[in-house]
Amino acid sequence: MTDYQYLSTRAVHAGRPAGIRHGPLVTPIVQSTTYLREDVDSPVEHAYSRVSNPTVDALERQLGSLEDAPPAVCFSSGLAAETALFLAILKAGDHVVCGRAIYGGTQRLLEQVLSQFGVEGTFVDSARTEHIERAIRPETKLVFVETPGNPTLALTDIAAVAEVTHHAGAILAVDNTFLTATLQRPLDLGADISVYSTTKITEGHSAALGGALCSRDAELLGKLRFIRKSTGGIQTPFNAWLTLQGVKTLPLRIREQSRTAEALAKLLSKNDHVAYVNYPGLPDFPQADLASRQHDQFHGQVVSFELVGGAEAARHTLRNLRLCSLVEHVGGLETLATHSASMTHADVSPEQRHAVGVTEGLIRISAGLEDVREIADDLEQAIAEAHRGSSDAARRGPWATAV
Ligand SMILES: *Cc1c(COP(=O)(O)O)cnc(C)c1O
Repeated sequence: MTDYQYLSTRAVHAGRPAGIRHGPLVTPIVQSTTYLREDVDSPVEHAYSRVSNPTVDALERQLGSLEDAPPAVCFSSGLAAETALFLAILKAGDHVVCGRAIYGGTQRLLEQVLSQFGVEGTFVDSARTEHIERAIRPETKLVFVETPGNPTLALTDIAAVAEVTHHAGAILAVDNTFLTATLQRPLDLGADISVYSTTKITEGHSAALGGALCSRDAELLGKLRFIRKSTGGIQTPFNAWLTLQGVKTLPLRIREQSRTAEALAKLLSKNDHVAYVNYPGLPDFPQADLASRQHDQFHGQVVSFELVGGAEAARHTLRNLRLCSLVEHVGGLETLATHSASMTHADVSPEQRHAVGVTEGLIRISAGLEDVREIADDLEQAIAEAHRGSSDAARRGPWATAV
C-alpha cells in the first residue's frame, strides 16, 4: 500500500503520489467543485467534489497509509464519518453494542438519531469484554468502542473484543481519535474499521474539523464512499489540506505531548489535593498490562484527575489557570483543560455520568507543546490557589458571603 516502512516517513510523504519528481513540493489545494472532460463519455478521475477531490484524495492516501490500509474515506467531521459508518452498516431492526465511555456526540447520534430509524443499541462497560459478549444479540451488526475511553481513559481490549464480535458475525469499529495509528493500530488487532475525528490530535492545530474511516475491507470502503456521495459529508479541500499538513508532524507531536502528559500525571499523583489520576502510563493504572500491550510505547496526550475538594475545587482550579486554556477540545498545540461533567458530558444525566466515572471533581487535561515545567507550574498554582480559596471560605463559615 505504501513505499515506506516507518510511520514518520509515511506521515510526511504518503500524501504525494510516488515517483513524482517535478511540480509543487506541497500538495496544492484544488478548490474547484467540478472538472472538465474531453468528451461526454471520456473516463474521468474526478467528476464532482462531493464525490472526490484531488486534495481530499491526498489526505486519504496519507491516513490510509498510516494504518497499512487502502486510502481512507474522509469526512467533514468525526460525526459525519460516524453517521456514514452507521448508514453503511445498519438498517431498521439491527442492533449496536456500544462502549459506555464513549464520546458524547456518538452516544447522542445513536440514542437520539439512529433510534428514529429503528436501530437499537445497548451501552456497556467495554473495559469488560464479557459485558460486550453478553450484550450481543442475533441482530447485532456492529460493536463500537472507544479506547482509551473519555475522560476516564479506561481501556478496551481490542483483540479480545474483535474475537467475540467476529464470533457473532458482527463488525468491530474502534474510535482511535485519541491515540491515532501512531500509538495504537486497531486494524492489526482485529478491528474492521478505525474511526477518527481528525479534528483532534490528527490535524493537531485546532484549525480544521474533519473525520476519517480506515479499513482493509474493499467492499466496506466502497459502501462508505457510496454513502458519502449520497449524503454529502465529504471533507472540504481546504480542511483536507490543513489536515495533510498537520499529519506530517503527527508522530512527532503525539510522542512529545504524551511525554508531557505522563510527566504531568506523575506530578499530579504526588499532589495532596488530588484524589487520583487516570493515565494509562502510570505504573498503578488498573489496566497497565493492557496499556503496554496495546499501545506503542506512549499513551497519548490526555490525562484526567479528581480533586479532593470535588466540584468546587475543580471549578476554582479551572478559574485559576493562567497558561492552560479552558475549552471543550483535545489534541491541540496548547494545553487544554475541560470540566467534563459540565462541558463534554453536560447532556448526559448525572447517574449516567457517575456510572462512567465522570465525577464533579474531575478535570481533563490535553497536554500541549509548551514546556512541561510551565504547564506543571500552572496546574500546581491553580490547584493550590483553589485549595486556599476553599479553606478560607471554610474558615469564614457559611455566612461569610452574605456579609
Ligand atoms: C471529537 C470527537 C468525535 C467527534 O468528532 P467531530 O470532528 O467533533 O465531529 C468523535 N470521537 C471522539 C473520541 C472525539 O473526541
